[in-house]
Amino acid sequence: MQTNANTSSTPAKTYVSIGQIKSLGAKLDLPAAGGGCGTSGGEGKASCGSSDGPEDMPQHIWDKVKDHPCYSEEAHHHFARMHVAVAPACNIQCNYCNRKYDCSNESRPGVVSQKLTPEQAVKKVVAVASEIPQMTVLGIAGPGDALANPKKTFDTFRMLQEQAPDLKLCISTNGLALPDLVDEICKYNVDHVTITINMVDPAVGEKIYPWIFWNHKRLKGYEAAKVLHERQMLGLEMLTARGVLTKINSVLIPGINDEHLIEVNREVKKRGAFLHNIMPLISEPEHGTVFGLTGQRGPTASELKAVQDACMGGANLMRHCRQCRADAVGLLGEDRSEEFTMDKLEQMDVVYDLDKRRSYQEKVELERNAQQAAKQEALAAASAMPANDDLTVLVAVATKGGGKVNEHFGHVTEFQVFEVSATKALFVGHRRVDQYCQGGAGDDEQLPSVVRAINDCHAVLVAKIGACPRDELTAAGVEPVDAYVGEFIEKAALSWFNDYRARIASGAIVHQHRGDAQIRQGAYTHAADGVALAA
Ligand code: SF4
Repeated sequence: MQTNANTSSTPAKTYVSIGQIKSLGAKLDLPAAGGGCGTSGGEGKASCGSSDGPEDMPQHIWDKVKDHPCYSEEAHHHFARMHVAVAPACNIQCNYCNRKYDCSNESRPGVVSQKLTPEQAVKKVVAVASEIPQMTVLGIAGPGDALANPKKTFDTFRMLQEQAPDLKLCISTNGLALPDLVDEICKYNVDHVTITINMVDPAVGEKIYPWIFWNHKRLKGYEAAKVLHERQMLGLEMLTARGVLTKINSVLIPGINDEHLIEVNREVKKRGAFLHNIMPLISEPEHGTVFGLTGQRGPTASELKAVQDACMGGANLMRHCRQCRADAVGLLGEDRSEEFTMDKLEQMDVVYDLDKRRSYQEKVELERNAQQAAKQEALAAASAMPANDDLTVLVAVATKGGGKVNEHFGHVTEFQVFEVSATKALFVGHRRVDQYCQGGAGDDEQLPSVVRAINDCHAVLVAKIGACPRDELTAAGVEPVDAYVGEFIEKAALSWFNDYRARIASGAIVHQHRGDAQIRQGAYTHAADGVALAA
């Protein structure tokens, strides 16, 4: 699986197409979805978006997604996932992928530090699930394609069904082999499948895929893209017919498939996809991908959001994907894989204690209910306030989990970004950054890149912040706010927003539009604190 961060500061070229994109909900006459829960959305609303709750979907769907950090934005604050790198081979080539590159500080799909046999993988999963009771999901996401390595993938699942029966099993695939393996997928109760679909038009696809290997032959160009497209659509339809939840990953490649992703969204919704995850291209030259070497840039934060927003009203959108590595361990946005290398596993006493896992998860459920209640209370309070404007701003939040404002600015490796108005505080993405505080002191060289990462935000909510970054952020027009320490994020964001509006109304400040921000998903993070690795 793929994707990569673009760390270049200024786009080499700008494409007017993204700015001209019209909302999907406003533009298209949408067919009814064939599955998932994406059937009830009205115009301009993301039907059953990934942050939705039990009231927005049938109970059997909610039961499948509620503890899945990738299928539920809300669950990702509380539950962890793990990938095992048992699938090295791939049956297609994508211009954004280079599986040869490996660096333990690198965060993108297709990258792993250690490939595992199915037996090693099972041992690792059991050890991790014993140590991390909030780990609910096990996925196989490469570093090649899970279904191009069917024996290794399904051997792993078979053993896990016996040894860790409470784990949800997931697969990520490019879809080429999918139609042939749907029966096998269902046999192992894999009820979450991710398909990477970047196009529904082979003329677009041939710019992304130089070749595929299919039916014992290497196909190239348009013919290759056409076969891939047909297999992807067929596989998606077959999974929907079997009631398997599907998530579609699409890599946004400016100038190649930006506007086209709106059509992709429509087509996958038509075929029953539950979620659509539009991710930025990662194309650093040093990764050695075709796109990296040819200067194909990734999107800016505004460009990514524009395409995601334009798809509102189509298939439900996922905006919290971390483009993890194929051996990621932990909560989304962190990686604890260094704690579970094979040599360390040899030294560990592992007891898979189902009761301990269940009782931990019950505690998580209580915290999660408290967060939901706080959010509903804050929304109710906000909507009761008079609002005769349609002011909407972005707010960055420093959090280390639990859905609260609870991280020191200097310790942040990833900000969460919320879109806030009088009536909503909606998670719309995250921004990875280099940690500002190194060895107890601020590293001023990091500061400009941190500011660039949240430059489109009006405020940043933190647990604490030093004088130097406070001044720098203020000078850049981003208000540092440490008044909501320990509060649930939505409540804090809405409280700040109401205060902001009151200051505008009193003439104390003047509202200014913000600029664009830089997506930096391949940024360095400390292994000990967590590096996000791949799906
Ligand atoms: S890449 Fe990470 S966040 Fe995205 S779907 Fe896979 S596991 Fe979830």
